[in-house]
Amino acid sequence: MISRRQALIAGGAGVAVVGGSAVAVGVFKGDKPEPLAPPSTDGKGHTVWRNWSGIQHSYPVQRAAPKDEGELAALLKAGPAPIRVTGAGHSFTGLCATDGTLVSLDAMNGIESWDGDQATVWAGTRLGALGPALAEKGRAMANLPDINKQSLGGALGTATHGTGRTLKAIHGDVQALTLVTAGGAVLDCDAKTRPELFSAARVSLGALGIISKARLTTTANRRLRRKVWLEPFEEALAKAEERWATHRNFEFYAVPFTGLAANISHDETDDPALDRGPDSDSVFLDALKGLRNLLGFSTGLRKAAAKALLGGTPAETAVDEGWKLLSTERPVRFNEMEFHLPHETQLAALKEVVETIEKHRPDVFFPIEVRRIAPDDAWLSPFQGEPRGSVAVHAYYRDDYKFFFELIQPIFVKHGGRPHWGKLHDLKGPQLAALYPRWNDFLEIRRELDPEGRLLNPYLKTLFGVD
Ligand SMILES: Cc1cc2nc3c(=O)[nH]c(=O)nc-3n(C[C@H](O)[C@H](O)[C@H](O)COP(=O)(O)OP(=O)(O)OC[C@H]3O[C@@H](n4cnc5c(N)ncnc54)[C@H](O)[C@@H]3O)c2cc1C
Repeated sequence: MISRRQALIAGGAGVAVVGGSAVAVGVFKGDKPEPLAPPSTDGKGHTVWRNWSGIQHSYPVQRAAPKDEGELAALLKAGPAPIRVTGAGHSFTGLCATDGTLVSLDAMNGIESWDGDQATVWAGTRLGALGPALAEKGRAMANLPDINKQSLGGALGTATHGTGRTLKAIHGDVQALTLVTAGGAVLDCDAKTRPELFSAARVSLGALGIISKARLTTTANRRLRRKVWLEPFEEALAKAEERWATHRNFEFYAVPFTGLAANISHDETDDPALDRGPDSDSVFLDALKGLRNLLGFSTGLRKAAAKALLGGTPAETAVDEGWKLLSTERPVRFNEMEFHLPHETQLAALKEVVETIEKHRPDVFFPIEVRRIAPDDAWLSPFQGEPRGSVAVHAYYRDDYKFFFELIQPIFVKHGGRPHWGKLHDLKGPQLAALYPRWNDFLEIRRELDPEGRLLNPYLKTLFGVD
């Protein structure tokens, strides 16, 4: 977000602000210790599986990476339950944990075929590998999330999205898909063939079956101009609507305890490529953590120091093909809660979240991400029926994240938010039924396709309200 040199100056200058005096005896004397890792095996020889952030783990008795739909179907019929499929394990919730069968589609990857500008892509394909494969044909995905480590199947599974007023989440560009069910059936569906299944399966948390491949709309592989700039938070709030209306992609990060926001826009251009330079995300986060550790005892001092140190940071610009620019690296691990809100309440909810964190949680230093997503009609899509604006709160992986549930989720719920399926929340059946008009239809299709609940782990049973 800011350059390495600037952030290093900021981190160092934090020390200068307290003048090297005894002021550094604040609440925060340094990082919390590394969280305890679970044992690498369960004592019966089963190796541990963990998610990216490290808060979910399990010991599957069987792991499998089928090479084709035939092998996948046989596995689904015979593998020990619960049968869960995982892509990159980047979800924060307990969606993939299983002590039964853990399936990876890593061996089913790449572009299977082209139909005009639509590409049929194996669901095990990582988004980061899909970019260059599409670019070979001059094509691209319309949008990308913050990172590109996810598998296509995993991204569809939780309604993964980027930002842009007119741009849909990834599943919004799916024109057809193939689902392999718990009974071993291989079902093709699209808007005409099995339309109800198509509506249910596009976002289905691996609960209806395993998607083996999907046909995606692609766009021309255009160059984008990326601009990143800091400004006062109040100014970012005041200008956000206008920026969403004018930029192809626009998002901003509210940076708590700084009074600042970081804006990021992307717009199409024919200008020559301009190097983006190394990712400075972790350096910026280190600077914010340094400010917390030194000045976390005083919000006023922390804000003054942050404004003095970061406020004048010049904008950064880069130009390149979209698939190279829209996603970044996220080397610093965190846990996250993200809700998708109606446009009318998004910024009010954001303000309340920032105020709440600044009042109650001086340990938080991660920026809060604010995005816009176009609507679609998948039944469990958080963007079903209307466009939504997302607000995402992060906690450093060593820090407490329970406050998400106690302090932040109530704000999102009050403002009509729908949770990101892959990110932390504890909403369940009845609350979700009130948010999703086709919730019960989805559950009905789930029962029909998997009457024995072979795909349900304890997390999904609680989510769906199934015994
Ligand atoms: C650093 C980081 C950055 C992130 N940035 C964003 C972002 O910008 N936008 C956003 O929306 N999300 C973001 N996420 C969340 C992430 O995109 C989702 O959690 C996504 O589901 C992860 O993909 P995965 O391949 O790791 O899937 P997993 O987490 O392994 O699985 C997710 C779900 O999909 C199911 N699934 C996997 N493959 C299939 C398949 N073939 N068929 C059916 N179901 C399947 C799984 O069973 C599970 O229910 C981020 C997460 C991290 C850790």
